Amino acid sequence: MNKRETQALLEQFAIRPQHRLGQNFLVDDNLTQRILDAAQVSEQDLAIEIGPGLGALSRPLSQRAGKLVAVEIDPRLIAPLQQVLGDAPNSQIVEADAQAIDFSRLEPDWPGETVVLANLPYYITTPIIEKLVCERPQARQFVFMVQKEAAERLLAQPGSKLYGPTAVLLAWHGPAQRLFPLLPQSFWPKPHVDSVVISIGRKQNADPETAQQRKHWLRFLNNCFRQRRKTLGNNLENIGPILEQLGLPSKVRAEQMSLEQFRQIYDLLQSSK
Ligand code: SAM
Repeated sequence: MNKRETQALLEQFAIRPQHRLGQNFLVDDNLTQRILDAAQVSEQDLAIEIGPGLGALSRPLSQRAGKLVAVEIDPRLIAPLQQVLGDAPNSQIVEADAQAIDFSRLEPDWPGETVVLANLPYYITTPIIEKLVCERPQARQFVFMVQKEAAERLLAQPGSKLYGPTAVLLAWHGPAQRLFPLLPQSFWPKPHVDSVVISIGRKQNADPETAQQRKHWLRFLNNCFRQRRKTLGNNLENIGPILEQLGLPSKVRAEQMSLEQFRQIYDLLQSSK
């Protein structure tokens, strides 16, 4: 959907975009195409989209996917979205706050794979990504459009000040990569920030996990990083013998540790219960 179509839709439905909800709509058809190509959605796939807005991505997604479920918080956008999607029988619009939705309940019996796309406002980037990755643990791919600074945190590596629990959670799901930038002129209204598209694939031969298991793992990771400047021993109780068993220094801090080390500690703690 280009800028002219976007402005015409906003005018037709007398909508003023709300900054509070991060309403900057994608108006660059080339970029839309690149995002869709990155997601590699096929007819067998369920596509879940968070924050469809006026449907710039939703319309082509509904044409490629077996089914599209789009979750939008703003009631004013539902009618234009319906108009843009036409009467595509494979599309479902859910009017809801994505923070309050249980993503594992969206089409739980879908026989194919799931791909999740979200162009997220900054205020909910981390909680929604964490919820999605926990509640759709089998998703083949997540494609997130986020502010540049958020992408740096989400893709941070051990040793970086930006490294944290969400970066470890994403790495646990599978290979995460920064794909390409989205410049302010690709949106209407133009935001004051730069965004990037990131993609997280599913690791091969992963053991199936439930949402509960993922959430438990994330709680552990949050505890590890609870006080960033402190050692892991300060953040987790009685961890000394496990660190010794794994040959890790007693003063190791979470921000220095690899995904594999976190998981080894987690597994040992689980088996000692
Ligand atoms: N996907 C569209 C596009 O690329 O043009 C719109 C993206 S816009 C950056 C973000 C969208 O997320 C808006 O439509 C906004 O109303 C919606 N949104 C904001 N907070 C939300 C929430 N908590 N739950 C669901 N949707 C939300």
